[in-house]
Parts: sequence; C-alpha cells; structure tokens
Amino acid sequence: MFSYRHAFHAGGHADMLKHLVLIELIHYLQEKPGAITFIDTHAGAGIYKLQDGFSQVSKEAQLGIERLAAKVMPAFENLLQQVQFENQTEQLSIYPGSPFILARLLRPQDRLKLFELHPKEILILQGNVAQLPNAQQIDVYTSNGFSGLKALLPPLGRRGLILIDPAYEDKNDYRLLETTLAEGLQRFATGCFALWYPILPRRESIALVDRLKKVLANYSRPWLQAELRVANVPGERRLQASGMLIVNPPWTLKEKLALALPELKTALAQDSKASFHLSSAEV
Ligand code: SAM
Repeated sequence: MFSYRHAFHAGGHADMLKHLVLIELIHYLQEKPGAITFIDTHAGAGIYKLQDGFSQVSKEAQLGIERLAAKVMPAFENLLQQVQFENQTEQLSIYPGSPFILARLLRPQDRLKLFELHPKEILILQGNVAQLPNAQQIDVYTSNGFSGLKALLPPLGRRGLILIDPAYEDKNDYRLLETTLAEGLQRFATGCFALWYPILPRRESIALVDRLKKVLANYSRPWLQAELRVANVPGERRLQASGMLIVNPPWTLKEKLALALPELKTALAQDSKASFHLSSAEV
C-alpha cells in the first residue's frame, strides 16, 4: 500500500485520455451558469515537475504530453492550453494533474473537493492548492475518497462531476470502485461520474467493466466507454492501455471523442497494435 506515486506516470498516455475526457466534461457542464461541485476522489499531488526524479525515471511524459505538444491538432487544443498555462517558458517542465485542471477551470460559483490518502502526497497537494488564487473554493480531505464520497452526495443544486481515479495498486480498488459507484448513484442518480481504469491481463481488470455496466443497468443509467491502447507487447510490465467509463455522459461527448480518439491513437502509438474503442448505451 502507498507505493504508488502519480509523479511516475504524470503526463503519460493514460493521463492524456483521462484529462482530455475530463476537460470535455467540465466545459460541457459549464455551458449552463448553475454552480457545479467537482469531486476528485483520488487527487494525487495536484501538479508535477517533469524534470523531477520520478518523472525522469519513468519518462512516461515523453511518450504522452510531449508527443501531443508536438502535434497541432484541434482535438488536443483544450488540454494543451491548460498545460501551457502552467509552463512559463517554451520548455515543457510542468504537467497539471486533475486537481489543477479542475481548479484552473473553476468559475466563482463552482466548488472543488479533493481526496488524497497518501501521507506524502496529501502534504504536497495541500501545499500546491494553497498557492492557487482560488484556494478558498477548494476543500482538501485527508481521507479515503471511496468512503468519503457518499457524504458529499448529492451536491448542492444537484449539479456535479465526480472523477474516480484510483491507483489500483490494491486489488480491492476494483471492488471498491463498483460499490462506490452503486452508492453514488443511489444518492445522486443524475450525476456525471467519470471512472478511469487500467486495462491489464489480470482477472480483476478483465472483469471490471462488465461489473460496472451491471451496476449501471440496475440503475438504468446511460454510459459511454472510451479506451486507448498504445501498444500490445505480451508480458510488458508497463501499462499499455486504459479506459474511461462515463456515467450520464453529455450528449455531445461521443461525437467529440470519435474525432479525438483516432488522433490520440496516432499521436501516442508505440507499436502497430495501438488501437482505440468507443461505445455507449442509452437507457
Ligand atoms: N487523479 C490524479 C490525476 O489525474 O492527476 C491522479 C491520481 S493517482 C492515479 C491515484 C491517487 O489516489 C494516488 O495519489 C494515491 O495515493 C491516492 N489514493 C489511493 N487510495 C486512495 C483512497 N482510498 N482515497 C483517496 N486517495 C487514494
């Protein structure tokens, strides 16, 4: 437990898929003026230095954000804009995690709730959030995001986006994701839930999406699933594919991702087996 540090993976291919989707969801929800509560149940450190030890060891950003930054594609524009905002120079040295992506896009009426459990990450997150000009709109909880979510649902005004992005270093995370989704829908059936998952050749991972879809069928909720594979090397220890399952997705999202995913696949492919998947279900 707690060996996972997101700094190793910041700006990698999984972040590209997750953060592209996240930004689309934020923009869609903010088309209406009503206040939104954004909840990030697994926040991480908030923002990352790409020249730091962790990032330099993994070099994941080189195959992720650095490749996207080299392509001028409309599909990546919103994400690149946010990354550029954090970087004062031409050189890409900073990558914003989901807390900073969310925080920078907050309007005065919106609120952000962040959970982080790692004893070191939480201190870094608190320090990073304190530097933000809108820190008073943000609550940081030193507690478990799976169990803490319930108490925040439904949010005031019943407008909310919940990002659930566990580390999956503990295999209980797969089961906890399922129960957290069910409990979340019980309290806030119309909420937009965005779940990130790794695609790994292990039992829990293979079974996960079907199990989540069963929960969604029980609550008659529509969903959209987007997956990106950057390589397919058998026996490889590094993550080669991941997905997002979006519950109660905006109606515009499928069309946007149908344009973005082929571009993302081309930009991030590490071998000829790179692929993407996009599917959805209405109620
Ligand atoms: N959402 C972040 C982003 O996109 O920038 C990345 C988050 S990282 C994948 C997962 C984080 O969840 C890690 O920092 C880990 O310490 C933290 N974590 C693990 N278990 C947790 C739990 N039960 N509640 C809250 N945070 C947890």
